[in-house]
Amino acid sequence: MDQRTNELRAAFKHAFGSDPQAAVRAPGRVNLIGEHTDYNDGFCLPMAIERDVLIVYRPRSDTTVRVQSLQQKNLEIFDVGPSEGKRIHKSSQVSARWADYIKGCAQVLREEGLKLHGIDMALTGDVPLGSGLSSSAALEVATLHALLGANGLTFSAEKIAKLAQRAENTYVGINCGILDQLSSACAVQGQAMLMDCRTLALTPAPLPKGLSVVIADTGKRRGLVESQYNERRSQCEAGAKALGVSHLRDATMHGLWQARQAGKLDAAAVKRCEHVVAENGRTVAAFACLTSGNGEALGQLMDQSHADLRDKFEVSCRELDDMSAIARSLPGCLGSRMTGAGFGGCTVSLVRDESAPAFASELATAYKRLHDLPMAVYVTRAAAGAGPVPLA
Ligand code: ADP
Ligand code: MG
Repeated sequence: MDQRTNELRAAFKHAFGSDPQAAVRAPGRVNLIGEHTDYNDGFCLPMAIERDVLIVYRPRSDTTVRVQSLQQKNLEIFDVGPSEGKRIHKSSQVSARWADYIKGCAQVLREEGLKLHGIDMALTGDVPLGSGLSSSAALEVATLHALLGANGLTFSAEKIAKLAQRAENTYVGINCGILDQLSSACAVQGQAMLMDCRTLALTPAPLPKGLSVVIADTGKRRGLVESQYNERRSQCEAGAKALGVSHLRDATMHGLWQARQAGKLDAAAVKRCEHVVAENGRTVAAFACLTSGNGEALGQLMDQSHADLRDKFEVSCRELDDMSAIARSLPGCLGSRMTGAGFGGCTVSLVRDESAPAFASELATAYKRLHDLPMAVYVTRAAAGAGPVPLA
């Protein structure tokens, strides 16, 4: 058993006075390409990372849930018993908002008609919070595994992903697409996955041999960008409407041009839509690069993706632009881009294995010269999706 599981077991015993019975984990994710395409019914190319949320738990015979996160001070307690159609109470204190991800998971299971038993759980995570590597999806997916496990139930990975997304959308109140939860729930070790966000079909493909994926956290937190995100979403919806399609997945560059000529879309809206149409094409092409082992072409597509996210979709920022530009200038780097919703968070770069250690340290040095922020660099392989892990 590793040290982390040991520490968590000890924390569980300290908090609840007994030993846990089982353990589950769910990883964070990084998206190699396919940004702001998920809510347009398009394509993404994520992989799970070697950072996750780990939960140890013990079922209870009553309907009380007690949760201790090693990343938070207070023990959270709530009830999942029947309450005449009332929702589980949301946390009123800002310091307890993290518990809403857990309550939201219990709530969606209740909405599925399940009568839940309670659970004691202790959790720890090493996915950095709020940097775009999806600690929230890791927390939700791991929580659903624990709640289902404690109730003797198993759901498919896809169903768990959908429930986790619903918890974040309808309970926590974040209007995210399915990318994060599906990646965490369904990832395959050593593989990236072409994700079709319309059908939820996932097609794995191995990363080209000899290449490392390097994630660099700019240290810039997204802050209050919810409104920007929602604005981009409505611009995409308006674009699809003007073109007479249900989602931009079905739009073409030619269709966009025609809509512009006919005065149905203004120049700003066309720019947003062009990114989505081009990004879907790039993502399918990137998948083909994986299957043919063409790292150079994949890197070029990542560079183009960044340029469009910066110039057309306008969701990048100084820190992301600097980080990816430095990455591109370093030896062994095939391509680099912002990853996640933008306005801060991380970049992802494709780097030759032999160059990766020097790349990581030179990237950090050069970036720190420009920005005094708590940046971090992670070299990662593609990890497995969520599931139970041995406790002893
Ligand atoms: P991201 O998913 O990019 O990391 P979000 O803002 O979507 O950023 O989710 C981060 C939130 O998820 C945190 O603020 C916290 O509420 C919750 N969270 C994630 N991991 C943990 C953890 N290990 N312990 C407690 N809360 C966590
Ligand atoms: Mg999140």
